[in-house]
Amino acid sequence: MNIIKSLAFAIIDFFYPPLCIVCNSDRILRSQKVCTQCWDSIPRITQNMPQYRELCEIIVRKKSAHELISCFLFTRNGAFRHIIHALKYRKFKSIGIQLGRIIGTTLLDRHTEFDIIIPVPLHRVKRRERGYNQSDLIAQGISSLLQKPIAAGCLLRTRNTASQTTLSIEDRRQNMQNAFIIRPKHEHDVKAKICLLVDDIITTGATVKACIAVLRKAGAAQIIVVSSALAE
Ligand SMILES: [Zn+2]
Repeated sequence: MNIIKSLAFAIIDFFYPPLCIVCNSDRILRSQKVCTQCWDSIPRITQNMPQYRELCEIIVRKKSAHELISCFLFTRNGAFRHIIHALKYRKFKSIGIQLGRIIGTTLLDRHTEFDIIIPVPLHRVKRRERGYNQSDLIAQGISSLLQKPIAAGCLLRTRNTASQTTLSIEDRRQNMQNAFIIRPKHEHDVKAKICLLVDDIITTGATVKACIAVLRKAGAAQIIVVSSALAE
């Protein structure tokens, strides 16, 4: 049976070779969506990058998260833009899992300890439109590598905030205030726990700041913010 399956894939690959979603290269395995060269072309976040330092100032120093860990730099014309677009709008869910495993590897390298994984939620209307929350997929990738539980549905987005791209930083902050709550009777999910808050891309930090405030209020012992990327 496996031989027939392999043969079928070989025939499909011959006529429809799997292509990298970023550069269209056919030097890629069927199980992959992005070629090695494209992954390697994305700048990695380092602690002395201005984007990282500025967000640490906002998230870690002022709003009491313990740490910010992010992997890639999202640039306007870079490969990561295609990757996140495919994840959010083309239903390439395996990319979310892969990003989660990349974050998980970073956490392993740093010996980061935590108790529970909390994805930044989408509002139920947006989730219904998209069919899934990309941060849930990233959380699943982290969980599969590190064997830690996901507190699914403990954090709720109660306001369907409009697209924030045209708003100033202060307007974004106002827009996000009171956008999240802990689902009633789920405080025990976070109380006295080290929470790993997972977002796909952090731009101004307004969204994660709003989540941090809610988790703190519910008694989280520590909050570590992770994201697959920081925006340029
Ligand atoms: Zn490529």
